[in-house]
Amino acid sequence: MKKHKIETKCVQEGYNPKNGEARVIPIYQSTTFKYDSAEHVGKLFDLQESGFFYSRLSNPTLDSVEKKIASLEGGVAAMLTSSGQAASLIAVLNICKAGDHIISTAAIYGGTINLFAVTLKKFGIDVTFINPDLSIEELQKEIKENTKLVFAETIANPSLIITDLSKMADFAHKNKIPFMVDNTFATPINCRPIEYGADIVIHSTSKYLDGHAVALGGVIVDSGNFNWDNEKFPEFNVPDESYHGMVYTRDCGNVAYITKARVQLMRDLGSTMSPHNAFLLNIGIETLHLRMERHCSNAQTIAEYLENHDKISWVDYPGLKSNKYYELGKKYMPNGSCGVISFGVKGNKEDAMKLMDSLQLAAIVVHVADVRTGVLHPASSTHRQLTDIQLAEAGIKPEQIRMSIGIENVDDIIADLEQGLRLL
Ligand SMILES: *Cc1c(COP(=O)(O)O)cnc(C)c1O
Repeated sequence: MKKHKIETKCVQEGYNPKNGEARVIPIYQSTTFKYDSAEHVGKLFDLQESGFFYSRLSNPTLDSVEKKIASLEGGVAAMLTSSGQAASLIAVLNICKAGDHIISTAAIYGGTINLFAVTLKKFGIDVTFINPDLSIEELQKEIKENTKLVFAETIANPSLIITDLSKMADFAHKNKIPFMVDNTFATPINCRPIEYGADIVIHSTSKYLDGHAVALGGVIVDSGNFNWDNEKFPEFNVPDESYHGMVYTRDCGNVAYITKARVQLMRDLGSTMSPHNAFLLNIGIETLHLRMERHCSNAQTIAEYLENHDKISWVDYPGLKSNKYYELGKKYMPNGSCGVISFGVKGNKEDAMKLMDSLQLAAIVVHVADVRTGVLHPASSTHRQLTDIQLAEAGIKPEQIRMSIGIENVDDIIADLEQGLRLL
């Protein structure tokens, strides 16, 4: 297919109907696919023929959306999952097993911190959380013999810390290990981490990609760039006896990683996205480029309004010149970062909660990154399970309100904040 610009890809990539076929990606609401010969089915299982046989592994609706997202991120292939958490889990387990070690920035999504620090630990996988501002020399001290992965978020949820992607990629590659990036907040419209050296990109598609808060989902994108033919990753280089002796690096070329994730882990774990959710996700992506522009311009206007308000003590938004990550934001996301801002009211946790309760347009929701403006108090909700030390490491303060700015008229959102702040 001709190389189109990203806005065109949002609308059209991944699905090319033939003469007389449905213009819009159809929902293949079928677990099963019918074949004329047993031999053909055998070839499908051997991956000698491409095709669909069971929707746990692949489905035509999902396939179109996977191709679209892979193209948006500049990767070679992608796999949808039932949620963002499933994407994180499968993406990591495809590389790490019991006895292995991961280095992750501490400023990441609370759910990912729990997955890494609690559940993966039970699987025998050890994680070191590091400060993302460390230099490569300082990071190098955290590398162990068994370190297999470096993990970060482009823009951390909810601390909005921006990762120096090129630095982290250099650090990982110096140690011959892959760099994985959760790009949920930036979206491929604002940043494509593969262009800065990321080897694997994941998303919670439940956020901006879907954009309407209607379907949970996740995706793993393979850049095709990492050389898995390396003694650190034997599972890619010795025959997989659970899959007819397939050697992923030998048999799958630059899609070794995503093929293994699908035929081994999706087969065994079954965290599949439903065709209907893939259909909804695709409709969301068709307007991603338009929505991100408005999310970012609204967020910028509101961040500036709050920064100048005498009842607000601080505002965190990478688009503010006062922000520690302003320069990194400009470098990696010149067109804008995301629609999420964080701020603290003058006062304490109770004042923050009072302001939230008084808002009328902005709803109190746990979700972020959809078309409707919402607010959340991370310390008492999404990050409630974290200890005070983990909270501080993740960049969360007690009086912090996270506001996910929607695509409404910005004057209405400001009027809502203004009436709420007047009550404090
Ligand atoms: C929401 C989120 C996740 C988890 O995704 P779910 O779809 O809720 O499972 C992972 N990473 C980030 C950055 C998120 O915001």
